Amino acid sequence: MAKILIPTALRQFTCQQDAVDVTAGTVGEALRALTDKFPDVRKNLFSDQGKLRSFVNVYVNDEDIRYLEKDATKLNGGDTVSIVPSIAGGSASVAEAEEVALSNEEVMRYSRHLILPEVGMEGQLKLKKAKIILIGAGGLGAPLGLYLAAVGVGRIGVVDFDVVDLSNLQRQVIHGTGDLGRKKLDSAADKMQDINPHLKIDKYDVGLTSENALEILRDYDIVIDGTDNFPTRYLVNDACVLLKKPNVYGSIYRFEGQATVFAYEDGPCYRCLYPEPPPPGLVPSCAEGGVLGILPGMIGIIQATEAVKIILGEGTTLKGRLLLYDAMNMAFRELKLQRDPACPVCGDHPTVTKLIDYQEFCGIHPPAVAVPAAAGAGVIDPVDVKQKLDRGDNFVLIDVREPHEYQICRIPGAKLIPLGELPKHLNELDPDGDIVAHCKSGARSQKAVDLLKQNGFKNVRNMTGGILAWSDRVDPTVPKY
Ligand code: ZN
Repeated sequence: MAKILIPTALRQFTCQQDAVDVTAGTVGEALRALTDKFPDVRKNLFSDQGKLRSFVNVYVNDEDIRYLEKDATKLNGGDTVSIVPSIAGGSASVAEAEEVALSNEEVMRYSRHLILPEVGMEGQLKLKKAKIILIGAGGLGAPLGLYLAAVGVGRIGVVDFDVVDLSNLQRQVIHGTGDLGRKKLDSAADKMQDINPHLKIDKYDVGLTSENALEILRDYDIVIDGTDNFPTRYLVNDACVLLKKPNVYGSIYRFEGQATVFAYEDGPCYRCLYPEPPPPGLVPSCAEGGVLGILPGMIGIIQATEAVKIILGEGTTLKGRLLLYDAMNMAFRELKLQRDPACPVCGDHPTVTKLIDYQEFCGIHPPAVAVPAAAGAGVIDPVDVKQKLDRGDNFVLIDVREPHEYQICRIPGAKLIPLGELPKHLNELDPDGDIVAHCKSGARSQKAVDLLKQNGFKNVRNMTGGILAWSDRVDPTVPKY
């Protein structure tokens, strides 16, 4: 008997079970028992050729068994098999020639550090000389910015081009209600400067791209990844490997987080763990899947702690260990990571020697390409949907969001069929009927439209902009979330 731990992203296929007990003698048998029991798991875990997909790792207890033959990997009674998919965040070269010293004010400010032997005056001066860059001033960037400013890091670069939105304030504690509509960069910098006027802040009001990443990151000792999308994650990873900078990684999703240190000394990089991104849409973003407001605080503070340890050259970092945090069960686990000699970036014979097009790598096509195909017959404006409803047109409006989203707000007359359940409900819809699909913002409903068309439905349209656009343009009493 072995236990298979199911990650959040796959629980939708296991009737929400987070662990499944199977009777199996090997890892291969265990995974087959799982997919026999829950057939929908199969296509997410295995390719059509039956090969384990490369954005999924399998561990037995805390050992990575990716390179082992699954059918030959024996399981003992009580073993735990973990399925860990990627989730859609040298003693730093503080070799600055510049002499630094602490003022009397700084001695008082950092006195609780100065009396720690592991920090002391020498460590505090290392912090003051250190240069860190934060990619993103959002959920993870908030605790990172606050604490790294407080502990006395001398120079912090922040890369962000976003604006503070009301839905950010549930977790991005570096911004306040008075900052709504301001650039996150300005809001974060003001807060950090207020905490520590000795801090020098470099503001980068841009998105990190393949064109600017090396130039921006080059001047810093440590890169901290607080991003929320796969293209930027791979970009940050590859840039860090190429520049030989430690990449302090964190990511969050719903109630779970991950943290480690990549590309540090001889340790592994993100691509050693996940050579390829998941297909677009498989792993929802926090905007789609939600995130507990406290979670980025926990993971961001772990990242800040790792950055400080790297600067001080003290302690044991997370290099080679992936820390998994489960807030719902208040459980920490860690898995060993190893550098992959065949890694395309940090391996022995790298094939990626310069930055690439990460949108393309992650299978994300710019809207300019996607829209013409969808335009015209395939889409309908929310205002036109309202007119159809008012006229009493004979059509079906399906809402492909999840039931808990339907609880927040709905369009009167819409029929709830969550996207994942749509295949089972096709026979309830008329293939010749007039069908409009909507979701929150239009992405999931586009998938619904594609699915219906593949199944022979002729007159199916996607309501552009989803219920958010409905709230903006048709009925402002519908709350936005
Ligand atoms: Zn690597």
